[in-house]
Amino acid sequence: MSDNLEVPSWRDPTLGTMKRVALWLFSEIGEGNSFTMESLLSAFPNQQGSRRMRDLRTFDWEIEPLDRLDRSSYLLRRVGRRVWEPGVTRPARGALTSSQRIAILSRDGYKCTTCGIGPGESYPSSDDRGPAILHVARMKTRTAKGLIEEVLRTQCAACNVAERTGQLIPQDSQGAREAVAALSAGQRVQLLVWIMNDSRTRSEVEKVWDLYRVLPADAKQELAAHVGQLVEAEVATE
Ligand SMILES: [Zn+2]
Repeated sequence: MSDNLEVPSWRDPTLGTMKRVALWLFSEIGEGNSFTMESLLSAFPNQQGSRRMRDLRTFDWEIEPLDRLDRSSYLLRRVGRRVWEPGVTRPARGALTSSQRIAILSRDGYKCTTCGIGPGESYPSSDDRGPAILHVARMKTRTAKGLIEEVLRTQCAACNVAERTGQLIPQDSQGAREAVAALSAGQRVQLLVWIMNDSRTRSEVEKVWDLYRVLPADAKQELAAHVGQLVEAEVATE
């Protein structure tokens, strides 16, 4: 804490209104005390005060009405970041902590929930997009009740760009219908599961592939030889 820094006066006209409101709350009201909207407005006329007071909430200030319905009195529950000090910046909007990111990546099995690619894998298409990089993306989805909700999902950089620029929107739903018709019954069941989950789940083969990919080099060689022998034996007996 920087208690040794001198606190400027809330009356200092060279400071911006938000800083002055913060100083007024800090020095005139104090953490844990309540104040009236009237007193705020008499210190900061013309509505600026209440707007800047709300802005302080994005700097971790906890200011809440004493009564939800009657917004004439407020409690300064917590003094947040000292916005009057140099270098105090607003945290990036909704920036994720690394533990939040890891929780989402692990929930999604470290795979893109749109195309199913894993980190460092190459894309199946011929164009050279390089190895896949996974991000945790914020996406807007429509809930069953029709509300727009923000959700966090693992997505590879290519799918994220395609989704944000609208390239994932099918140009032709007839083409998609024909592609569905060309699937086997089992494949259609698989597709329906992905649709219901709104994400591509891993097949049994892909799960084994995931296990293979993280093996050390010599264990990889060993497993490759083992699978080779099994396949050879199966082909021979057919
Ligand atoms: Zn993807």
